[in-house]
Amino acid sequence: MQAVKVAASVRRKALCCVCGNLRTVSPDYHRSNDPNYGYGDQARAEGWRHTQTLKCDACQDRTRHALLRPTHVGDPDYDEKCQRYILGGEWHDQYAPDREQLRAEYFAQFARNPYLTHRRYTAEAQKAWDDGTKWVTALCGAQIEVKVDPRQAAKYSEPEHRINGYLVAEQLSDIEYEDPETGLWWLDMDCVDCIRVSNELRRTRRRKLLESWLAWFARHPETIGDTDAETLMAVLEPLAKALNEQQT
Ligand SMILES: [Zn+2]
Ligand SMILES: [Zn+2]
Repeated sequence: MQAVKVAASVRRKALCCVCGNLRTVSPDYHRSNDPNYGYGDQARAEGWRHTQTLKCDACQDRTRHALLRPTHVGDPDYDEKCQRYILGGEWHDQYAPDREQLRAEYFAQFARNPYLTHRRYTAEAQKAWDDGTKWVTALCGAQIEVKVDPRQAAKYSEPEHRINGYLVAEQLSDIEYEDPETGLWWLDMDCVDCIRVSNELRRTRRRKLLESWLAWFARHPETIGDTDAETLMAVLEPLAKALNEQQT
């Protein structure tokens, strides 16, 4: 009981949404009819979560502040994990939330750049083209229209821009477009969420392949010739040294 009381009285950290200044606030503080109040599942239409109005010394004004979740209450990164999951990432914990419902809420809250180039599975795009439905879900969760027969599009597609085997985002042009409804400006760009998911899939596939090779060659080391053994040792030696240093 004492521990619960102590936990409840710990002041929470809050970040000013205007200038980023950090302050603390009593967990009991709550202003009635707070226009900036947003909490958990009752998040505001603007997408604010865990926010309230507080005085900021740096701004010398009352501003919207984001309350940082205390580490002793549940999972402090839960909202971030949900956002990752919405935008195509994996759910690594138990009890995955309903992704479709989360997506519908998230995409309704946040305007997205309509000029992004997304990535999708070719097989799904081909199926949507062939059966006439034309719409598929991109890796990041966005609904995208298949405008060209993927068989034809593959012939003209640009080579992928990679660094160390990973895709990197590219800006395709520097023309900005204004959306009259929101007054926001957009650029032609690769969708970084699609690229992130694509790279995560790539990394997982690569690692599985490497593990199966290592397991096979560990059972059949006699198949590795002397020259190849030297090349392999040049790669593995620093890793083994680092491991030894960690353990001592
Ligand atoms: Zn401030
Ligand atoms: Zn995307």
